[in-house]
Amino acid sequence: MTHILHRNIRPTMPTAASSKGIRITDTNGKEYIDASGGAAVSCLGHAHPDVTKALHEQLDQLAYAHTSFFTTSVAEELADTLIKDAPDGISHVYFLSGGSEAIETALKIARQYFVEIGQPQRRYVIARDQSYHGNTLGALATGGHAGRRKMFAPMLFETHHIAPCYEYRHRQAGESLEAYGERAANLLEAKIQELGAENVIAFVAETVGGATVGAIAPAPGYFKRIREICDRHGILLILDEVMCGMGRTGTLHACEQDGIAPDIMTIAKGLGGGYQPIGATLMQQKIFDAFDKGGNFLHGHTYVGHPMACAAGLAVQKVIKRDKLLDNVKQMGGLLHRRLSERFGNHPHVGDIRGRGLFQAIELVADRSSKTPFDAKRNLHARVKAAAMARGLMCYPSGGTADGKNGDHVLLAPPFIVDAVA
Ligand code: PLP
Repeated sequence: MTHILHRNIRPTMPTAASSKGIRITDTNGKEYIDASGGAAVSCLGHAHPDVTKALHEQLDQLAYAHTSFFTTSVAEELADTLIKDAPDGISHVYFLSGGSEAIETALKIARQYFVEIGQPQRRYVIARDQSYHGNTLGALATGGHAGRRKMFAPMLFETHHIAPCYEYRHRQAGESLEAYGERAANLLEAKIQELGAENVIAFVAETVGGATVGAIAPAPGYFKRIREICDRHGILLILDEVMCGMGRTGTLHACEQDGIAPDIMTIAKGLGGGYQPIGATLMQQKIFDAFDKGGNFLHGHTYVGHPMACAAGLAVQKVIKRDKLLDNVKQMGGLLHRRLSERFGNHPHVGDIRGRGLFQAIELVADRSSKTPFDAKRNLHARVKAAAMARGLMCYPSGGTADGKNGDHVLLAPPFIVDAVA
């Protein structure tokens, strides 16, 4: 009997008792290899001594100070660190407790920016089908996953969606990757024209699609073209790197590999590595300047810039840099991709193996040649997860959409500290 309203109303999961390195142990003493970092969170694995030490020290020094009264050295230092390594032109950061809050904040920053610069008529957000941007109402409205939106649809603000850049399903026979990337990006142009550029606030996209699609990296040139379209129409580009950011793909920010900088970027999971709940919204100097003229950013939460969360973020980021873990992400990511391809490349129910760095996924299909997904009612992803857990493995499967636009997939996002087993 439990008094917690769990995700699954009749929960069957084990009780986690302790964790170390890449493993979590339950109260029965059974060990699980954490091959997904939970939900791509635990980038340093578990119980890292440097992070634990930093958290103890912060707790002794200062656990909490409300940001309407004080700033703190730890929040300022983390902000300095993030801005130093941020994409071109990013100058300021707003700290939050997770990814959904970071997206909500990004949307409000974008809206207020246009009000401050005298374009208050802008109100539409364009995002992509099958995307995931979080579960709060603004984030859910932005996300394009039909199944997750359905129940709450009457409560969601008006957003518009275009098809994602999803080579496996949308590239046509004989079409080069580059030509496909351009065609996929041009869908944004068409949508902007339909809505009227003067009415659009922002285009929101995960740089590498994660939770609902499984490690879909953009085609070469896709985001360059998107950037160019946004600039031409004066629309903000918001990149959601909550899952794919902070080193997961082998560079600190996934968009580095696409050669562009967003106007606003959200980060979360790998920022604090699960040691504390923390997310952040980063923005360009021009946005800060517009707010500077207006006075205040009309937003705020009680736990913004929480010292314990910032201490976790700072410690995690220091370890990643000191131990040059992004090199390991590249190397181990390449190895993981090769091993998955060798092992499952010819499996009759594996349609695609894809990803960047230590962010890899397998898309499962009922039929390889037609790419037909399994019937969503079969809940294949839940069965894969249960089978893996029974064998002591944590991976992160997710269901296909009921409309058959994508299949079930299994996401792997192991900690950056993993090494190879012969
Ligand atoms: N954005 C993306 C791309 C995500 O993958 C997630 C969570 O999986 C979120 C936003 C929401 O983050 P949170 O669950 O921390 O609210």
